[in-house]
Amino acid sequence: MSNKLVDICVNLSDNVFSGKEEIIIDGAIKNGVDKMVLVGNDLESSKKVAQLAEQFNLISTAGYHPHNAKDWHAKSYNELLEIIKLNQVKAVGECGLDFNRNFSTPEIQNTVFLNHIKLAKEAKLPLFVHERDAFHQMHGILKENINDCENIVVHCFTGTKNSLIDYLDLGVHIGLTGWICDDRRGKHLRDFIDIIPDDKLLIETDSPYLSPYISSKKAEITSGMKHLNKPEYLVEVAKDVAKYRNQSYDYVCEITYQNYVNFFGEDK
Ligand SMILES: [Zn+2]
Repeated sequence: MSNKLVDICVNLSDNVFSGKEEIIIDGAIKNGVDKMVLVGNDLESSKKVAQLAEQFNLISTAGYHPHNAKDWHAKSYNELLEIIKLNQVKAVGECGLDFNRNFSTPEIQNTVFLNHIKLAKEAKLPLFVHERDAFHQMHGILKENINDCENIVVHCFTGTKNSLIDYLDLGVHIGLTGWICDDRRGKHLRDFIDIIPDDKLLIETDSPYLSPYISSKKAEITSGMKHLNKPEYLVEVAKDVAKYRNQSYDYVCEITYQNYVNFFGEDK
């Protein structure tokens, strides 16, 4: 198992990957990224990643990203439930609150997020959470529901040390992205990611967003896909996570792989 990585957030249904899915997955596997979680962000993308997961023997999630909460309607709950029943769909999300840009109003985001929690409880699946600039509201909602939920991961954690401590107190998992590699945006994280217990750590690229190369690392970027993040770059995330946790690269591979197995489960 040593040196095998798992990327828990690949947005493979994104248009920029259209027609290149196999190349992206092959590139990841060649670089030691053995497993990937294909993440849905609305009904169509949840359907698409479920189909891709089946095709490539991976797993996927189903949900509405808070940006897309405005598209939620009366039938959405049951439509998502149908997708969630598929065997390769192993989590509900990504869902949550993003008050950074408010593409959907906070009120709508809140309602839609609560529906996802209900879905996760009904399906007995983990919850894949996105939170940006909404820590207090998110923490309150999770605290209220934590006992009825299977596992929860707060993915792409970019907050403060205090908010990390509060999330960890709830027992949730934490996903770290290429922010850690970014000298401008992610520098603060380097001082305290070592407080995440070994059994709560997950890593991810959130590709095609958040390229760890944008911060000026060696940029060997395929022509025509400039600045695009890809799951194979998870290697860079893992290296920096290891460095700032004072752990070996191999050890980070081992614990994050094991956490992936425990979190998403082999069987429903
Ligand atoms: Zn997200």
